Amino acid sequence: MRILITNDDGIHAPGLAACEKIARELSDDIWVVAPEADNSGASHSLTLATPVRARRLNDRAYAVSGTPSDCVLLALLELIPGPRPDLVLSGFNRGGNLGEDITYSGTVAAAMEATLFGVPAIALSQDTDHTGPTRWATAETHAPGVIRRLLDAGWPDNVLINVNFPDVDPDQVAGLAVTRQGRRKPGSKLDKRQDPRGRTYYWIDSARTEVPMVEGSDLEAIGRNQIAITPLHLDLTHHDTCRALGAALG
Ligand code: MN
Repeated sequence: MRILITNDDGIHAPGLAACEKIARELSDDIWVVAPEADNSGASHSLTLATPVRARRLNDRAYAVSGTPSDCVLLALLELIPGPRPDLVLSGFNRGGNLGEDITYSGTVAAAMEATLFGVPAIALSQDTDHTGPTRWATAETHAPGVIRRLLDAGWPDNVLINVNFPDVDPDQVAGLAVTRQGRRKPGSKLDKRQDPRGRTYYWIDSARTEVPMVEGSDLEAIGRNQIAITPLHLDLTHHDTCRALGAALG
C-alpha cells in the first residue's frame, strides 16, 4: 500500500511525524508532502497568484510553499512517480476538527483534494484544549487500528473520513463512534491591537462555545471520550431545499 501523508500544521509539526510513524506500521511505501508553514484554517484554498515551490527533503519527502490542497495536487500530479497512492492520511492535526471546524480546516481539505482525485483519504485530528501538551500518544495508539478497520469496511467514492481522537490518555478512550457533523455556537472574535508604530492590526481567534449537542454528533462523541469517525461528502447540495425551491420556483 502506497500512502501519502500531509497536514495543515506544516512540515515541522510534531503531529506529522506521529502520523508518519503510525503509517509505517501499515506500509513501508510512505511519501510525505506537507506545507512549509502552518496552514491551519486554510480550508480548501489553492495558491493561484504566486508560484509554488517544492523543496525536496529526501527521496520521498517534500515541503511545499503552499496550502494543504497544493501539497496533495503536487504530490499526485508531479512529485510521486509511478502508481498513485492508495491512501492519503492528513494529520495528525493539533486540535480537533469538529462541527463547523470542518469548513475551515486545511487538514480536512487535504483529504477532500485527494478524494477529488479518486484517492481514498482520512483526516486525523488529536483534540486538545491547547492549555497543556497535546496527547499525541492517544492518536498514535489508536490510529493504526482505526485505519485498518476503516480500510476493511471501505467507503464510497466522493466520500472522505474525518477522524478525531479525544483529549484523554490512550487508556481512557471509550471506544469509537460513527458520527454526524455537529455544531457549536458560531463566532470568531477580533483581538484589536497596535503595532510598535501605532498602527492597528487584528488577531482573529475562535470564540465558539458549546451548545446543546446535536444527537449522534462528532462533538457529542468527543465529549464522551470516544474516537469520532465522521464520513463527509463533497456534494454540498442541500437536497430538501433543492426540492422545495424547485417546486416554489417552478
Ligand atoms: Mn492545523
